[in-house]
Amino acid sequence: MSDAMTELFTAALGLVAPWRVERVRFAPDAHEIHFDVVCEAKRLPCPRCSAPDQPIHDRQARDWQHLHFFQYRALIHAQVPRVRCAECGSKGDSEVRQVLVPWARERSGFSLMFEALVVALAGMSRMPVRRIGALLGVHPERLWRSLGALVEQAYEKADMSKVRSVGIDEKHIGRGRVVTVVHEESGPQRGRVLHVSEQCRSSNVAEFVGALVAHGGDPAAIERCTMDMARSFVAGVGKHLPKAEICFDPFHMIKLANEALDAVRRAEVPVEPALKRTRYHWLKDAGAWTRKEVNLHWLRQSGLKTARAWRMKERLRDIIAWRRYPQVPVVSLMDRWISWARRSRLPAFKRLGQTFKTHITGIRNMLAHANSNGMAESINADIQSAIARARGFRTFRNLRTILYLLKGQLELPSSPFKPSRLRAA
Ligand SMILES: [Zn+2]
Repeated sequence: MSDAMTELFTAALGLVAPWRVERVRFAPDAHEIHFDVVCEAKRLPCPRCSAPDQPIHDRQARDWQHLHFFQYRALIHAQVPRVRCAECGSKGDSEVRQVLVPWARERSGFSLMFEALVVALAGMSRMPVRRIGALLGVHPERLWRSLGALVEQAYEKADMSKVRSVGIDEKHIGRGRVVTVVHEESGPQRGRVLHVSEQCRSSNVAEFVGALVAHGGDPAAIERCTMDMARSFVAGVGKHLPKAEICFDPFHMIKLANEALDAVRRAEVPVEPALKRTRYHWLKDAGAWTRKEVNLHWLRQSGLKTARAWRMKERLRDIIAWRRYPQVPVVSLMDRWISWARRSRLPAFKRLGQTFKTHITGIRNMLAHANSNGMAESINADIQSAIARARGFRTFRNLRTILYLLKGQLELPSSPFKPSRLRAA
C-alpha cells in the first residue's frame, strides 16, 4: 500500500498524529474493507486525570464498524494503548486505563459517524431498527444497544429546570402491557417526552419526580398536571407534586362517555337487533357518517336507551368543545350534565356522572384552562404514533429508547452527511 493511499485514508477518517492509517486491506469476497490504524505515541495523557506523558502499559486489539466505503462494510482495527498513570497511582488508583480513540465513544463497537447515521435513519427517517440492521449488515440487537447508550447519554443532559406543566398518560403498547408517559404540556419544549416508565401505578409519578429532580427540575414548581382519572395517578400527583393543579384530560372524559354509551348499546341489542354491529357508528362525528349511517337517523331519534345515551355523549362533547368560548357558561352546563347523567336511569351513565362528580375540581380546572390544554390532542396523537411504531419492540428498554429518540427533543448526533444540493436529472 502506497504512502499516498494511507495518507488519503488517514485524512478521510479525520485522524491526526499520533493516530494514522498504517494499512488498508481489501476483502472483496467478504464485501469488506479493513483499515488498520496505529497510535505512534510512546507516552500519552491519562484518560482519567489528563496528566500528560504517562507511560503506555500495553495495547489491546479492538474493532469498530465505520460508514460503508462504496458498497463495502468498512472496519477499523487498532491496538489501543492502555496507560498506567503515575499521577492517579500516587492517589492510590493504580488501575490501567484504555485511552479514548478519536473516532468512537468509549466501549462502542461503532464509529461516531456510523452511530450518527443510525440515529439519522431511526430518528429523522423513522426507519425500523431491524431494517437499518439489514441495510448496514449489523445485528439489530447491537444497534439497539448503541442507540440505547446514545439516547441514555443525551437524556442525562436533558434540562427540566423550566418545566411548569406536565401531562401524564397511560399508554397501551400491545399484548395487554401499559406504560406511563409524562410529557411537557407548555413552554418552548411543549410536547417533549420527559419520562417513560413501566406499568401504571402511583409509584410511576414518584419515578418521574425522581427524574425531574435529577434533571434540575423542582416538583414544587409544577403548576399544572393534565391526566386521566386513574386513581393511581390522582393519588401519586397529590403526594409527589403538591403544588400542581390537577386538570382532567377532556379527550379521556369523552372516551369514558363512549365506553358508557357502548355498554348501554350492548345491553339493548336483544331488544332492538338493529343496534347490532353499530358500535363505531355511535362513536363517530356526525361529519364522518357514511350514507348508511345517515340512514340510521331513525335509531338516533328513537326512544331507545342507546339513543338517549348517544344524546348525552354528544352533549358532553359540545360542552367540552365550548370551553374555548368565554361567553358560554361551561361550568354550570357541566354541573347540569353531571346531574342529568346521575338521574338518567342508565347504570353506565349514572356511574360516569358519579365519577365526574368525584373529580369535579379537576374537570373545572380543565374547563378554565381551555387554551393551555388546546394542544393536548395533537401532542397525544404524536406520542401515540411513536408508540404505534414501537409496538413490535420486544423490550420496554427499546420502547423507551425510541420514544426518547423521536419525542425527547434530545441533543443527538446529527447525520454524518453534509446536506447537498439536489440535482434534477
Ligand atoms: Zn491519571
